[in-house]
Amino acid sequence: MSKIHILENSLANMIAAGEVVERPSSVIKELVENSIDAHAHNIQVSLFEAGRKKIVVEDDGDGMDREDAVLAFKRHATSKIATSYDLFKIKTLGFRGEALPSIASVSRTTLITSTGSGVGSEVVIEDDELTVKDAPLRQGTIVSVEELFYNTPARLKYLKADFTENSNSIEMMCRLALAHPEVSFAFYIDERKQFQTTGRGELLEVIKDIYGHDVAKKMVPFHFVNADFAISGYLGKPELAKASRYFIITLLNGRNVYMPKVQTSIIESYHDFIPPTRFPFVVLSFAIEPALVDVNVHPSKKEVRFSKEADLRLALLQNIPLALREKNLVTEIVTTSKTETLSEQMNFDLDLSPKTEVGPQSRILQPSQDIHPLAEDAPAFNAYVAPEKTLTSLKAVAQLQLTYIVAEGPDGGFYLIDQHAANERINYEKLQRLFNKDLVVTEPLIPIIITITPSEVTLFSETKMALLRAVGLEFEPFGVNAYKVTQIPVWAKEYDEKAYVDELVYEVLHEDRLDIFKLRTHVIATMSCKRSVKANDRLSLADMQYLLDNLLKCDNPHACPHGRPTIIHFNKYELEKMFKRTGV
Ligand code: ADP
Ligand code: MG
Repeated sequence: MSKIHILENSLANMIAAGEVVERPSSVIKELVENSIDAHAHNIQVSLFEAGRKKIVVEDDGDGMDREDAVLAFKRHATSKIATSYDLFKIKTLGFRGEALPSIASVSRTTLITSTGSGVGSEVVIEDDELTVKDAPLRQGTIVSVEELFYNTPARLKYLKADFTENSNSIEMMCRLALAHPEVSFAFYIDERKQFQTTGRGELLEVIKDIYGHDVAKKMVPFHFVNADFAISGYLGKPELAKASRYFIITLLNGRNVYMPKVQTSIIESYHDFIPPTRFPFVVLSFAIEPALVDVNVHPSKKEVRFSKEADLRLALLQNIPLALREKNLVTEIVTTSKTETLSEQMNFDLDLSPKTEVGPQSRILQPSQDIHPLAEDAPAFNAYVAPEKTLTSLKAVAQLQLTYIVAEGPDGGFYLIDQHAANERINYEKLQRLFNKDLVVTEPLIPIIITITPSEVTLFSETKMALLRAVGLEFEPFGVNAYKVTQIPVWAKEYDEKAYVDELVYEVLHEDRLDIFKLRTHVIATMSCKRSVKANDRLSLADMQYLLDNLLKCDNPHACPHGRPTIIHFNKYELEKMFKRTGV
């Protein structure tokens, strides 16, 4: 008797479901993407009991006629591609024809749909039995998924606590809404509205609808176009930095996808602005010729590959810092009123700038907000006036706790400058200039021998050697597991030569995904830190003034190379307000 047989349809669906339907948030994703593909303008999603009990997705899209409504539940039934050629120019979100049958195989699914003409249909699938009857409905589709995983106990057990499942679903909904500003989304959990977007096509407005005014006001617009791709969206100012990379939202041709390389590049491009343990808040959409994109990598289409990744990386690394730098980034003390946003309800980590002891209501934000056409009801920051100009002069007045410089500015307020951070910034930019000059090399003053451990020997590959050469180092073997440095950049003499070499070698050996760009940035940041005055160094007024003058000459005087602020501003208006000297 033969051993091979064709899987029963229901079994095949359940296996596919293992890939497509992992948890409530994946059901949401598949159903909402279907609604978007069906040209819906309004999509409402409701979850009950974290999606275990019921998930309902309602749209006002094209709807289906009776025949299609039944066909939709057949495996590999799709209206979206017909031939393998179509695979290469996919523009719709779904195309595998797997989602509906998969979902139906692990839940009790009801689909009510109508094209707007004739009578609508209601298709119920339960235990692999399909029944159809007439159903009145305006044009559109309602899919209701009940008792997810009722017949696959292992999967059911694998679901996490309600809170976790809900936050996965919220994240998914946020991403879908951000990817489609042209669609109005309403999202409910156990009948409580989580957010609603207007569908007016403005990404910044979606950001506001989801995360609140405070966040939307701290987004910097970003645009980049070349022959192969276009990038547009918003970059969160450094103070919006997050503890996780969750908020690096990348959209590829309207699809919410995980682009690991792009994500890394975005993180690196913020290197100068935020501390290394923080991640930026970014929403960027990439438009890339579909033929250059391979979306067929993962069944849930979360991860994609595409050619021109290197060009894209460069575009991000060069242009994101430019866009951020254009803004005046002095950290500002302002008192604000509170508005509860989704992010606050969920306890997201939004307010991350260092706190100062100015009172319970104060938080730090940045001046020179762009005036974006947000709705007029903008509640927060009304108190803030004083359009900040770029700082041109600061007068050192005193040193505080051997750590901060107190300075007066031109505006009648005062400034606190972190002396170490300021000095780091100055050295950092100086080193950058030195690095960018033609590399002039010389022999080290005193012989520098580097010894590496036996386990490191294997790490010392040709590629890594080449990286070191690119930053001006040359070596020759010097006994067992040791090298003699025969050449260093001339400017390194000004610094601690040995420390410089050690730092480079260590970084090259132990950092896996290193390129010349990263290596330079790292070394420059480390060297500038080592060379800088520390907290607890006593400074004379003249030292302090020298530091301030040089700081203000920097391209980006407002943050140290690790992204922490260098200058905090207490403006006159705020001071008077705190002392109740004005009628505010
Ligand atoms: P895919 O999206 O990969 O084509 P699905 O199983 O998700 O596969 O859906 C199967 C088909 O059902 C789709 O191709 C589409 O024609 C139809 N369909 C699904 N959801 C909707 C909807 N909300 N509105 C209109 N048609 C839909
Ligand atoms: Mg689909």
